[in-house]
Amino acid sequence: MLVCKFGGTSMADASSISQVVSIINANPKRKIVVVSAPGKLKGQDKVTDLLINCYKTAKEGNSCEEIFEKVKYRFQSIIDDLKIDIDLAKELENIRQAIDAGAGYDFAASRGEYLMALILAKYLGFVFIDAKDIIKFTQDGVFESELTNDLTKAALDGIADKGVVVPGFYGSKPDGSICVFSRGGSDITGAILARAINAELYENWTDVNGFMMCDPRIVKNPKSIDCLTYKELRELSYMGAGVLHPEAIFPVRRADISINIRNTFEPDNPGTMIVPSKEYRKNGRIVTGIAGKKNFTVINIEKSMMNSELGFARRALSVLEEHKISIEHMPTGIDTLGLVIENSNIEGKLDSVIAGLKAVLNPDHIEVLDDLALIATVGHGMIQRKGTASKLFSALYAADINVRLIDQGSSELNIIIGVDNKDFEKSIEAIYHAFVD
Ligand code: ASP
Repeated sequence: MLVCKFGGTSMADASSISQVVSIINANPKRKIVVVSAPGKLKGQDKVTDLLINCYKTAKEGNSCEEIFEKVKYRFQSIIDDLKIDIDLAKELENIRQAIDAGAGYDFAASRGEYLMALILAKYLGFVFIDAKDIIKFTQDGVFESELTNDLTKAALDGIADKGVVVPGFYGSKPDGSICVFSRGGSDITGAILARAINAELYENWTDVNGFMMCDPRIVKNPKSIDCLTYKELRELSYMGAGVLHPEAIFPVRRADISINIRNTFEPDNPGTMIVPSKEYRKNGRIVTGIAGKKNFTVINIEKSMMNSELGFARRALSVLEEHKISIEHMPTGIDTLGLVIENSNIEGKLDSVIAGLKAVLNPDHIEVLDDLALIATVGHGMIQRKGTASKLFSALYAADINVRLIDQGSSELNIIIGVDNKDFEKSIEAIYHAFVD
């Protein structure tokens, strides 16, 4: 059995929903369907954004009626255009009243998925299962994976082969109130269902043909990635490659279920497969993808004989912990230690951090580099392959780029370099062409 999740653009209007239905009907194994709220349309906002605006308006003490009319219109157009025999007038009015009465962000934000799933279940003749009954959070909003897995398994037992539609993005807390994942969280719901039924495959239908080797805004028409592993995906999405919610891989990864990113509007394109590492086959590619982010700060600490001083790194890290700052990388030398931090994490705290480091480390010298961009070149193919680093650095040298930091993880899955922000795009281009052309 397959779990299929359809994102917001796939659910945007009657024409895209018809396309979704033909995809579902094309394969009898597509029995478990997860939906997002209707996405952006030309000149019309995403339904989730409209609902969040309703919440904000109500919070300011005004009625959300005017914005809610737009929500109503989106759903009513879908129902009318597809001639679906369902009357949601009462549901819609109840939701509007609840939002006006102060029902809260999570309730409001989740209603697009709820209504869309009701409509699609009716249209397909599938069973509707409300995510609030199977996806559970603690009262503090922490996702409860095992309880959710047990409840989901039990709810699907005996009915999965009839066809089921589940709204993505939300679940509930012990007191029954609605709780949402972070934005884009329907991807997580799909992964949870795939794990619970031990799906053959988790299909995630979006509006792109999967992952590209790098950002198409930087390199024109980059090659697409036909297959990558969960580990490679983690590295690439952490460094900024979008498409899938970064938390969506955890439930399926545990169960060794592959994810297939597909394009609703180009259903013949095979998309990108995301597979467990053990299924990785050497396919001749050295590099799977290149991704990066701008705006990092590096604090370089220098002290003679640092390597023989017990607890040096621990004391340095404790200063960051006290300031509630997480670090991204920690390149080291014999007498040097670098702390790489996202600018947004250290904003307004730099002076106090430096003072703290000086106090606990008594260093010879501290230097701060800012405006640094990090770029990760990722690929299992790099392991034990001679010449990868040489190729990468030669390309950067030829492009006249000064590399300010180098970090190669011990897994040899990636090489991370730091360059000036201004060299970010040029560096990605140089690396891409070195490995692809
Ligand atoms: N509708 C939600 C959002 O816009 C969740 C999702 O689409 O996955 O973030």
